[in-house]
Amino acid sequence: MLRIRRIFDDVLPANRETLEQVKVILRDRFSEISEEEIEQLGEKLRNPFKQRFRPILFVAKTLRSRVKGFAMLLHEPEIGFCFLDWIATASGRTGGGLGGALYDRVRREAVDLGAGELFFECLPDDAEKCPDEALLKENRARLRFYERYGARPIVNTGYELPVNPGDSCMPHLVYDALDAVKPLRRAFARKVVRAILERKYSGYCPAEYVEKVVASFREDPVALREFRYIKPQAVKTTVNDRSIEQIALIVNDRHQIHHVHERGYVESPVRVRSILAELDKSGLFARLKPRAFADKNIHAVHDTDFVSYLKHASEDVPEGKSLYPYVFPVRNKTRPPREPSVLSGYYCIDTFTPINRNAYPAARRGVDCALTAAREILDGRRVAYALVRPPGHHAERRAFGGFCYFNNNAIAAQYLCAYGKVAILDIDYHHGNGQQDIFYRRPDVLTVSIHGHPRFAYPYFTGFEDERGEGEGEGFNLNLPRPENLDGERYRKTLGKALHRIEEFSPQFLVVALGLDTAKGDPTGTWSLMAKDFEENGRLIGTLGLPTLVVQEGGYRTRTLGQNARNFFRGLVQGHMKAVGNRQESKVRLHGVVFRYELQPQDPERIRRLTEITGFFSTAEVEVAVELVNERLAKGVQSGYHFVMAEHYGRLAGYACYGPVACTVSSYDLYWIAVHPDYQGKGLGRRILKETERLIRESSGSRVYVETSQRVQYASTRAFYENCGYRQETVLADFYAPGDGKVVYCKALT
Ligand SMILES: [Zn+2]
Repeated sequence: MLRIRRIFDDVLPANRETLEQVKVILRDRFSEISEEEIEQLGEKLRNPFKQRFRPILFVAKTLRSRVKGFAMLLHEPEIGFCFLDWIATASGRTGGGLGGALYDRVRREAVDLGAGELFFECLPDDAEKCPDEALLKENRARLRFYERYGARPIVNTGYELPVNPGDSCMPHLVYDALDAVKPLRRAFARKVVRAILERKYSGYCPAEYVEKVVASFREDPVALREFRYIKPQAVKTTVNDRSIEQIALIVNDRHQIHHVHERGYVESPVRVRSILAELDKSGLFARLKPRAFADKNIHAVHDTDFVSYLKHASEDVPEGKSLYPYVFPVRNKTRPPREPSVLSGYYCIDTFTPINRNAYPAARRGVDCALTAAREILDGRRVAYALVRPPGHHAERRAFGGFCYFNNNAIAAQYLCAYGKVAILDIDYHHGNGQQDIFYRRPDVLTVSIHGHPRFAYPYFTGFEDERGEGEGEGFNLNLPRPENLDGERYRKTLGKALHRIEEFSPQFLVVALGLDTAKGDPTGTWSLMAKDFEENGRLIGTLGLPTLVVQEGGYRTRTLGQNARNFFRGLVQGHMKAVGNRQESKVRLHGVVFRYELQPQDPERIRRLTEITGFFSTAEVEVAVELVNERLAKGVQSGYHFVMAEHYGRLAGYACYGPVACTVSSYDLYWIAVHPDYQGKGLGRRILKETERLIRESSGSRVYVETSQRVQYASTRAFYENCGYRQETVLADFYAPGDGKVVYCKALT
């Protein structure tokens, strides 16, 4: 069985491995692509918009994680089109079932993005244009395949003009109108063609060539080739919508055994059933079986003696009986009592969470579900949901309570944090004291909780605003207690604060402890959130655009549980897709950056580290960068080198070096601009450049010059300058090396 999955970046180890397999197929199937370009695949995904196209990679994987095929789509959001860069299968067949599934997925994505049309290149299927017999056969099969969707080559234009004399077998530009039958307008087509030639083939197509090809689009609408292989009425224009990225759903299949029949025990099996009934209808989810994980994952957040106590106490309780704690160690916490019925008070925080025969096995299975969901996230899934009970967020390192035994969300967060920073957002009505306790002294897991104020809400003794974390963890716990009455609108204000803190923390993963007891009418809460509020909250959380693991916590009004859960996820997915779709530099704001202009003695070393870590400069270039700093330190302003140092809480996040050009009245050179990888994609480069321009203007400078290489590797640099208003003035051909010219950009300051 194959599944098609989108790969968003190369940060996760699983994604890196997938990308390596994609590269193998690329090398194998497209011999004309340079190794340099192949190696940049990960970088492209991580920094969308570097080439002014947002790359979207889909891979078709077997269950054993072998990549069988992939498709790379480039989205251009400003003009509004998609370009299918590559589609390939390991076997080499694109027209078969796998190629078809990938192409369906690509079309679906293009429609979801609101890009009305899809373009791609296809080699010619005419014998006179393609002398290679085998290749010709392949090209024919391919164009026949696309014709089934109505996609055909654009004709009567100069798109197939050779770039260099002697070029043969030039590709057609193929147009797919997707789900609409609409003509291709000339003005639009010209923009599209310009974008493709200037960006995708930057450095290959000279400017005159681009102008010539763009101007060759004369007809309006632009004509497509007649159908050659199939009858027009056999065209399938509907876009397949079954391939939408689904949320992984892992349900605790042993939750039903945990059923406490005492009156008023609202944490009951019907909760899961009523949520499932609604989720199943939505089509948003793919059900997965929980897998078994070792106890060591639990021991990573809970004390060993506590875990073994729960296990044994649960086994020792007679069938059908419940053990409730009734004495608690206010004094003498260090001496566990012998008597089993008394011991439960040593490990529990309240009198209403019993231990019974099934508490341990049910809770243990819940942990497996949360970890299975975490594993899915590490595998590259963007949203996974562990629908579990008993819940977990009140379980502390060495205490259970509040219907909770093991802290599922904390165990999953601990599992994920081996791969990057994690933020836990607890949106249950009750304070998430469990994960607060577990991560209180740690800076790598941020815990945030929005809850009813402890002066009236369980667990009463924690959840105050001044609990901010301790030691290394100080500042990494945020409690947002709220008053007894709260509606959706006021809730969202608080949620906004929580999300702001999470953005600042910039984690790799988000864990949401999803309590639905904030809903109107919940028997354990006092707030009044409605169905639409859950959708809106989901959307806001989704806009973080983070891989998100949702773990079920509380929520007891069974009549609305399902609808609220479904709405939450609908919003979450929409917000998420939008965030990932719109991720532009300006979207991710970086707060707390300060500029300074005077150098300090430790700056040469800091600049060395910074320029090295970008991985962008050669050893010789790094030396030059350091030399300029030393020069400035030694000679001051006389050196002619000026600096803009951008610091983020004392850390050097980026810098620029510039100076007046000798023998000119008011021209300046920008010598260096570099941004630490941790701060890339956040608009910092642009801000440093703006600050530099401001200083140059202040010194009566009027023109800024900057030079860069023509190589593919520098496409992002060139795009950066162009986006900042720099115009290409000239290209000194073969300047750095044969085929590697120097591009000179200039911006006139007004
Ligand atoms: Zn709750």
